[in-house]
Amino acid sequence: QSGDERAASMPRYVRVNTVIGTTEDIIKVFVSRGYTLSDPFSSSKKGFLKDPHVPDLLLFHPSTTFQDDDLYISGKIILQDKASCFPAVVLSPPASDNSVVIDATAAPGNKTSHLSALMKNKGKLFAFERDRKRFSTLKMMLSKAGCSNTVPINADFLTIDPHDTQYSSATHILLDPSCSGSGIVNRLDHLLEAETEDETDKDQRLDKLAAFQLMMIKHAMRFPNVKKIVYSTCSIHATENERVVRNALNSEEARAVTFRLASRNEVLPTWQRRGYPDELESPDDASSLIRCLPGEDATNGFFVSCFVKPGNSLTSKR
Ligand code: SAM
Repeated sequence: QSGDERAASMPRYVRVNTVIGTTEDIIKVFVSRGYTLSDPFSSSKKGFLKDPHVPDLLLFHPSTTFQDDDLYISGKIILQDKASCFPAVVLSPPASDNSVVIDATAAPGNKTSHLSALMKNKGKLFAFERDRKRFSTLKMMLSKAGCSNTVPINADFLTIDPHDTQYSSATHILLDPSCSGSGIVNRLDHLLEAETEDETDKDQRLDKLAAFQLMMIKHAMRFPNVKKIVYSTCSIHATENERVVRNALNSEEARAVTFRLASRNEVLPTWQRRGYPDELESPDDASSLIRCLPGEDATNGFFVSCFVKPGNSLTSKR
């Protein structure tokens, strides 16, 4: 299957931005335009459905375009692949005035605006982005989406002191760092070309990325009040996924505060495709991990993991 064929078999995903509207209202708008709640792949191309795994996500025919749509221009809908909605859903940040949440690698900001929506635009959501140009995009995106609980910061997350009183109360951290991007469907043809890349070069490139990704997780684990960390990539390689998780679990940082993987029932339990057991020290941990395969799951290739501090949940008494 070519990248184009894979892209054609993927519905167009639309996330309703619940910061400024409700899914029911957006559904009414589409119904008033002649769409019906029915199979998105029907030949009329006017069917759309609610996603069974991600709340507030709608599926349309792959040929539907929204770039010039008022709803998109006004920030009421956000164009976001299904798999890339999983991290915010799994992190499930609390929606309270006291919530302090960090998105460590935020631009262009789809996951930041998703977190903001799940927090009901309450509390504080610090959004770090190291790259200046991408930071401008992030700020524009968050303002268009009406995410007023966000604090965008143009800084390298690794230079942020976890004990800085501004950030030390953060309880939830999302880490979606730079990766090889090997799961992105419209880039798959590139991937096929990349297969001709010298294996040693490829391994070195992935090892370098994995070392950086591990450093980011270990840094997140140093925040004194952090209870939950979600680490995700749009890579299909175990080097950037299960192997990074395995090394993170073995790190001094994880051992010092006994971080473990959240159990399957806390990590989208109804999603069938899970991690690769052979890549983990405890094969049972694979059920805690989410994988999405391009061409198989009607999404981009994706990976999600969730680290938690046991016995320290938000609902427990302090
Ligand atoms: N989460 C974003 C979204 O859903 O729109 C996509 C994030 S993208 C995969 C990774 C981003 O992290 C890039 O914009 C990159 O510039 C930024 N980044 C990489 N290393 C960083 C660091 N150490 N601190 C802050 N941002 C970083």
